[in-house]
Amino acid sequence: MTVNFGVIGTGAIGRTHIDRITNRLAGGKIVAVTDINDESAKSTVEEYGLDATVYPDDTTLLEDDHVDAVIVTSWGPAHAQSVLSAIKAGKFVFCEKPLATTAKDALEIVDAEMAVGKQVVQVGFMRRYDQGYKQLKSTVKNNEIGEPLMIHACHRNQSQAESYTTEMTAVDTLIHEIDALHWLVNDDYKSVRVIYPKRTTKAYEHLQDPQLFIMETLSGIIITVEVFTNCQYGYDIQCEIVGELGTVKLPEVPSTVMRKNASLSQAVLTDWKDRFEDAFDAEFQDFINSIERHGAVQGPTTWDGYIAAVTSDACVKAQETGEKQEIGLKERPAFYQEIENVAAK
Ligand code: NAP
Repeated sequence: MTVNFGVIGTGAIGRTHIDRITNRLAGGKIVAVTDINDESAKSTVEEYGLDATVYPDDTTLLEDDHVDAVIVTSWGPAHAQSVLSAIKAGKFVFCEKPLATTAKDALEIVDAEMAVGKQVVQVGFMRRYDQGYKQLKSTVKNNEIGEPLMIHACHRNQSQAESYTTEMTAVDTLIHEIDALHWLVNDDYKSVRVIYPKRTTKAYEHLQDPQLFIMETLSGIIITVEVFTNCQYGYDIQCEIVGELGTVKLPEVPSTVMRKNASLSQAVLTDWKDRFEDAFDAEFQDFINSIERHGAVQGPTTWDGYIAAVTSDACVKAQETGEKQEIGLKERPAFYQEIENVAAK
C-alpha cells in the first residue's frame, strides 16, 4: 500500500517533508498540495516534479478521496482548524508543532480524536526519534542511573532574524525541550519560572537573549533549560540527566577531528535541519509504516500537543510577569494513558 499525502502549507519545512517522502522514504506519495499563497503550492509541484493536484484551500484538499493523510505545515495559528477538519474528513494527520496555540483548541482536537477511537494524529516532535534522545530514554527506563533528579539542557542557535521575539523563545524554540524532557523522565510539569541573564549585544534590541527556564515536575525533578538563540558559534543541543547513581548525556554530533597548524578541531553544526535530519526521516517513516501496518499512527500524540500548549503558555506568562507559574494540566484521559502504556512496552 502507498500512503497518499496532501500537504497543507508548502513553506520551508513543508517542502523538506515533501522532499523526504518523494526522494528518500518508502511507501508515501504526495498527491495534493495547498498553500494560502497559490504560487508557492504551484512552484512546489514544479520543483519536486510532483504528480499532485493544487487545491485552493484545505477544505477542497480534504474532499479529495485519494488523500489518505495530510501534513499540516502552515503557520502555527492555522494548525488546529486544519487538523480538526482533517480528522472529521477521516484522514490521518501529521501536524508540525504547535498542534494548537491554545489549550482550548488542543482539547477540541483531543476530543475529536477520541471520538474516532484510535490515534490518527502524530505531532511533529521529532526529537523522540533522534538516536541520542532514544538512548537517554532507554537509560532512564532501564533504571541505569537510578531515579532522575535533575536535567540540564541547552538549546543554542547561531542567530535569529529581526522578526524573532522574546515570546517565540518559549513557543517556537523551547517547545522542543518542553516535549522531549518530560517524555524522557515520564513525568508531567508542575511549574516554570524564567531568569534573564545579562543580554548579549549580538541580539536585536527587542529580544531578551539568553534566557534560563527552570521547570519543576510533579515528582520534584528540577529542569534547567538555557535558550540562547544568538550564540554565534553554531546550532548546539545539549541535555544531561542527573540521577541517583550517575548521569547520562546526549552524545556530541559525530564529526571528523582535524589536526592542523598545531591545533585540534572539530566542526559544530550550524543548521537544525542537519542536526535532526535522521530524526525527521525516522518520524515520517514511522508515520507511513504505522498507517500501512496498523491502520493507526503512533508517536507524539495530541495529548502531548496539549501538554506543550499549556506549558508554553505558562512559560510566556513567566516571561511577562517574572513570577513562577503553575502548569495546571487536566487529568490524562484513559485513551492516551493506554497509548502511552503500549509505547512504553
Ligand atoms: P513557513 O516557511 O512560513 O511556511 C508556512 C507556509 O504555510 C507558508 O507558505 C504560508 O504562506 C503557508 N500558510 C500560512 N497559513 C496557511 C493556511 N491557513 N493554509 C495554507 N497555508 C498557509 O514556515 P515553516 O518554517 O515551514 O514552518 C511551518 C510550521 O512548521 C510552523 O508551525 C513551525 O513552527 C513548524 N516547524 C517545525 C520545525 C521542527 O523542528 N519540527 C521546524 C521548522 C518549522 P505565507 O508565507 O503566504 O503566509
